[in-house]
Amino acid sequence: MSRILLIEDHEQLARLVSKGLAGAGIVADEVTTNDSAWAALRQVDYHCLILDRGLPDGDGLNLLRHIRQGGLTVPCLILTARDALHDRVEGLEAGGDDYLPKPFAMAELVARVRALLRRPAITKSLRPCYQDLMLFPEGGAMQCGERSITLAAAEMQIMLALVNRQGEVVRRSAMEAVAWGLSDAVTPNALDVALPRIRRKLQSVGSRLQIINVRGQGYALL
Ligand code: CA
Repeated sequence: MSRILLIEDHEQLARLVSKGLAGAGIVADEVTTNDSAWAALRQVDYHCLILDRGLPDGDGLNLLRHIRQGGLTVPCLILTARDALHDRVEGLEAGGDDYLPKPFAMAELVARVRALLRRPAITKSLRPCYQDLMLFPEGGAMQCGERSITLAAAEMQIMLALVNRQGEVVRRSAMEAVAWGLSDAVTPNALDVALPRIRRKLQSVGSRLQIINVRGQGYALL
């Protein structure tokens, strides 16, 4: 089944588009900002993007340029109220594959998305990686060179937080929040139990990286 990322801050429109796509057997994950789209793209290999330009945290084209620079070739349909020739050209030059001005007919949107999905899959994923480590969030694995090891869900979230910060400090509270959410069931020392396990796994795949405790601040992958 095709899974696409819909980046659109107009909630009603996003819901309509998701519904239209669902009718065609296409699952859409909805996000409303450039930042949340970026986070989603680091977790999931999408088959296609639908990108609005006017987002609360800026022009969607900034995100598109950013992901193209990162080597991600996932097809992208740009959705926008702007229909001037200049805007269409700008969108395509930023790495867009197709362009649909609002308002649009749902049938046309679905047809265009399907056309993009039919393109040969040459997408290169935007893997979370840092130095010798690569994470596979969907498969729950961490890899270093030829060696890989499975990570439990909470361990993966902790590693994602560390890898995404690329060597900078992650606060203890932030690690707990991504690993266990705000659940009351979490024991106060859950992180202290998880960290030695993750450290052993880092060693066992042969990574040069270590999780360093930065006193009073948090942890960093160095
Ligand atoms: Ca918008």
